[in-house]
Amino acid sequence: MIDPHVIDSVAADLGAKPYRARQIYEALTHGLVTDFADMTALPLDLRCAFAQRLEPLSLRAIESQLTADLAARKTLFETRDGHAVEAVLMTYTSRATVCVSTQVGCAVGCAFCASGRMGLQRGLEAEEMVDQVFHFARVLRDEGRQVTNVVFMGMGEPFHNYDETLRACRLLNDQAGFRLAARAISVSTVGVVPGIDRFTDEPLQLNLAVSLHAGTDELRARLVPLNRTYGLDDIFGACARYVRRTHRKVLFEYVVLRGVNDTPEQMQALQARVRPPHYHLNLIAFNETGDEFARPQARDLSALCAQLRQAGVLCTVRRSPGRGIEAACGQLALRCGPQAVPG
Ligand code: SAH
Ligand code: SF4
Repeated sequence: MIDPHVIDSVAADLGAKPYRARQIYEALTHGLVTDFADMTALPLDLRCAFAQRLEPLSLRAIESQLTADLAARKTLFETRDGHAVEAVLMTYTSRATVCVSTQVGCAVGCAFCASGRMGLQRGLEAEEMVDQVFHFARVLRDEGRQVTNVVFMGMGEPFHNYDETLRACRLLNDQAGFRLAARAISVSTVGVVPGIDRFTDEPLQLNLAVSLHAGTDELRARLVPLNRTYGLDDIFGACARYVRRTHRKVLFEYVVLRGVNDTPEQMQALQARVRPPHYHLNLIAFNETGDEFARPQARDLSALCAQLRQAGVLCTVRRSPGRGIEAACGQLALRCGPQAVPG
């Protein structure tokens, strides 16, 4: 992926006509072309001149894993400076969702998350986020399908890399480019309140997801260290402002850790906060990343969901096709990455 402004400025430097820049951008975002040599609508000398100055691919795919039914596929990429990042494609009957990483590692350090264990190496650039999507768009094209949804729920905290994440959203949405509807894009934050406030003011109609994982501040502070900076009242205050301003829903994610955050006390606290009609709760079974926490049984998740619904919470259980391919955020990169740490 190359930002259209960069293509424009190189085209101007080369003395090429502006429509040539549009042709190149179209080839990259629509044709999903990865090499100037394949842009046969362009004269050969221009292809060579651009190829000397610009590189369409910001990431190199180095390893993929898939589940037997192909419902989830995970690809590990290498950045130009040698970092490992990963993205996951989940396909359903009529949808194909790409889960994108926004950082190499993460500074937040949630107790159950593999990305947190790496610490933060660096934020990704928008081009590197978009290239994760384009990689799977090519894979899907070969199967006669296309990317229908993008979720920024891979490695990293999107709102700790706010500007590049939003630039990636705008590039994906660009009506002159990839043309993914804003309502098909979701950004997940662990609760960076200033980020939620900025997001509220964005003109694009993107979806907001907030990772909750506990009903009380006491437990949440143990699971999500950032809760000591932005507690539940701060987060729900920002979400209320978001809803008032945008009239959109907020999806709360809740990774269920058996015997830790599925207790009656947590459920009661949760019911009081996650109220309809604008708040929706999504229960996610913990993917094992170590010995500290245990995955709940599928039937326990369903029971928890039923109980929350009884109490009026709009609740669903997330299908997690990625189990078995280390699809939890950060797992594959932690094992394979050059920056891997024991753990
Ligand atoms: N930093 C952002 C987005 C990336 S994490 C956030 O925390 O929201 C995306 C989601 O994956 C979060 O809801 C996170 O809690 C979840 N996750 C992380 N590790 C997991 C694991 N081992 N099993 C299941 N879900 C996990
Ligand atoms: Fe970072 Fe999200 Fe993982 Fe927490 S769950 S460490 S915020 S990536």
